[in-house]
Amino acid sequence: MTEPTPIGHGGRLTVDLAALRANWRRLALEAECPETAAVIKADAYGCGIARAAPALWEEGCRTFFVAHLSEGLSAREALPEAAIYVLNGFPPGRARAYRDADLRPVLGSRDEVAEWAAANRDAGTVRPAALHVDTGMNRLGVSVPDALALAGDPVVAQAGIDLLMSHLVSAEVEHDPLTDHQAAEFARVRAAYPGIRASLANSSGDFLASCRADLARPGYALYGGNPRPGRDNPMRPVVRLDAGILQVREVEAGATAGYNARWVARGPRRLATLSLGYADGYPRSSTGRGEAVVGGVRCPFAGNVSMDLIILDVSEAPREALHRGAPATLIGDGLDLDTVGRNAGTIGYEILTGLGRRYERVYRD
Ligand SMILES: *Cc1c(COP(=O)(O)O)cnc(C)c1O
Repeated sequence: MTEPTPIGHGGRLTVDLAALRANWRRLALEAECPETAAVIKADAYGCGIARAAPALWEEGCRTFFVAHLSEGLSAREALPEAAIYVLNGFPPGRARAYRDADLRPVLGSRDEVAEWAAANRDAGTVRPAALHVDTGMNRLGVSVPDALALAGDPVVAQAGIDLLMSHLVSAEVEHDPLTDHQAAEFARVRAAYPGIRASLANSSGDFLASCRADLARPGYALYGGNPRPGRDNPMRPVVRLDAGILQVREVEAGATAGYNARWVARGPRRLATLSLGYADGYPRSSTGRGEAVVGGVRCPFAGNVSMDLIILDVSEAPREALHRGAPATLIGDGLDLDTVGRNAGTIGYEILTGLGRRYERVYRD
């Protein structure tokens, strides 16, 4: 392997597209659904839709989900032939924009179904859409009684409904009775819509037999997140984040570091300053708990994460790994997304989708 180029100012985000492909294949096997889609909302969870989406298409993925129209347009550019569903439906009066880009809104209310059906009628061609059924989240979708009542209505055909969807409340929690309840409710709705495909499972749901349907909809696990918290992560890491060391200094016992002097050296310590901060999308809430790997050793943050800089206590790291321009790893080398999320008081999902625009981005395949 060639030596990586030295890290410049700011972090370097490396996205492993081969791992992304492998994760999609793995999830497709695990889901045991006739088809496995990919959720690529939020710029493919921060990994970059323009690179991630074609890689998944090449692997055989044919159906994709985004959240917004703008994401749908980016997805369409990357995927000229794919079926692309837009999870947040469509805003009033915007059906035309969806039709023009051949995007399929996920309809979540009777109003929305009626408006899409009307747009189909006006245009004289039926463009497909999905129907979201709320089986317990109380967030998006028509209620189960409404879905059952709608089943015989001609508006369903006029709206081109070709997919029934519901979303799980706590698929990552083992043996949660709510999941079984949702699966049962969804089954009742499916029975009322014969011949229409159905989709229930997200990443975690892919691992649950009760959530099998026609189409699996994983997101997080594709990008390396652990779909089964508390168990070994079966997914390959996709994202790696490194930052360069700007300076190394020695401090005496009692010295403080960072804004408001929140960190105090308990003895003589060695500190390294990294060229990366919360303006890069690395959460400031990691202050006091964050870590980075330097020379194979996990080093704790010292002081507040600031806008463009993080101070690390590198006293335990090998001396030869500490010089100007040397890398520190913030995600990778055993520091997985879920740990980074926990250290920031959040979940790995938020770390991924917050990955900054300021990083140098490197794609490997
Ligand atoms: C984001 C999302 C998914 C993907 O969920 P993951 O937990 O990331 O796998 C699936 N379905 C819906 C409706 C979503 O909003």
